[in-house]
Amino acid sequence: MRKIIVAIDGHSSCGKSTMAKDLAREVGYIYVDTGAMYRAVTLFALRQGLFSPDGGIDAARLETLMPEVTVSFRLDEATGLPLVCLNGECVERDIRGLEVSAHVSPVAALPFVREALTRQQQAMGRERGLVMDGRDIGTVVFPDAELKVFVTASAEVRARRRYDELAAKGMAADYDDILRNVQERDYIDSHREVAPLRQAPDALLLDNSLLTVAQQKAWLMERFKEKTDDMA
Ligand code: C5P
Repeated sequence: MRKIIVAIDGHSSCGKSTMAKDLAREVGYIYVDTGAMYRAVTLFALRQGLFSPDGGIDAARLETLMPEVTVSFRLDEATGLPLVCLNGECVERDIRGLEVSAHVSPVAALPFVREALTRQQQAMGRERGLVMDGRDIGTVVFPDAELKVFVTASAEVRARRRYDELAAKGMAADYDDILRNVQERDYIDSHREVAPLRQAPDALLLDNSLLTVAQQKAWLMERFKEKTDDMA
């Protein structure tokens, strides 16, 4: 059967990765979390001390240092899922905390960062057979993706899910801080000049505020089957 590209975009913390991972596992596709790539570059910038206390970033310095930044994925043998690496070091845990979350959107708004990561993401899809989640996959990275989904849910539901996820990993967090962060990232991601977060005209809209993980997984599997059956 011909392999396709599935592009899953949407607001922060609305379960895109969970549904993308589940689908990729089920159908034997590669899964790529592009948010993890922007988070890894942000971690690099934090480690280099490129942020001022008010959160502003030294973009010129980051641009000079960009050739030294390599973001890659390594397969976790135990789970079969990709782990993000920064210059060869697995940074999966370091990129999920609130510090990176609080700084990632300004980094992701920088055109030279987007160019570098977009190029890498497009190379990953050359053979198709890919489920990729992010903010601009269906609009910029793979405008020709065969199946596009735009996921959303209320900000409160998303903050609660993120809180539960961090708590389950033993990472302390405050619900109000998370809610503020989710709303701030939505705003910056939707209003930036390059590749803003928006629903592609041909993307299916999924509001999963009232859906369980199992229900959204089943929904996506159905859409995948419809699409690939149509093409058979
Ligand atoms: O998906 P996740 O919440 O981990 O993404 C972190 C941040 O990375 C987003 O808030 C957004 O600023 C940025 N991002 C992006 N484009 C993508 C994926 C993520 O700008 N394709």
